[in-house]
Amino acid sequence: MGVLYLIFIASIVALLIGISKLPSKGKAGELHVAKILSKLPPEKYKVINDLLINKKDHTSQIDHIVVSKHGIFVIETKNYTGWICGSEDSEYWTQNIYGSKHNMWNPLLQNKGHIRALSKILKDIQFDSFISIVTFSRDAELKIKTTKHVIYWDQTIDVIFSYQEEMLSTIQVEKIYNTLLTINENSEENINQHIINVKARIYNRQKNIENGYCPRCGGRLVLREGKYGRFYGCEKYPHCKFTHPL
Ligand SMILES: [Zn+2]
Repeated sequence: MGVLYLIFIASIVALLIGISKLPSKGKAGELHVAKILSKLPPEKYKVINDLLINKKDHTSQIDHIVVSKHGIFVIETKNYTGWICGSEDSEYWTQNIYGSKHNMWNPLLQNKGHIRALSKILKDIQFDSFISIVTFSRDAELKIKTTKHVIYWDQTIDVIFSYQEEMLSTIQVEKIYNTLLTINENSEENINQHIINVKARIYNRQKNIENGYCPRCGGRLVLREGKYGRFYGCEKYPHCKFTHPL
């Protein structure tokens, strides 16, 4: 009886450990896109998945980077369902599932931050060698007003192949790839610190907005009237295009 009980407890514990190790929805999306990227010819395209850059209190987690002669592709992967609505400059996009709306921070701006962090490390690389790609699962229906690459997972390879001009030499590609591998700090401890930093950043943003300040430039938020109703905008417009719904 005692033995059976122990076996029972042990299997419950094993089950719980198993569940806690299942990838989250976001992680599952990253794994899916990593698999897609692994089909790129490896001699021409160097892929780094899950790069963590650690700079004092500021960390950036980049889902995928593809380094090639045709540019450095910086890829942000999203695993969402429902309608995804927003525009290039709006601070937030909305996810609309059967009428219930959720805000997400504009992934294009998020990726812009990633590229800024990368260009600080790769100082001698021209800014236009970085190509931003935001890629969504087919479970989402994209309704984004933008000329940038906001695409579906299965279109990622085609977008990368659409760049044929040579921007970097073979030596530069090797150097960039090795530099990024060296600075990658995605240990469990650093990932946890990154999550804390992101939470603090979101909290500070929200706090600024509540106090009537623009989280992007520190200007005052003013009430504006737009085509689709009233919203808060930054006083520094058009220099700063921050907006926030009422
Ligand atoms: Zn502003």
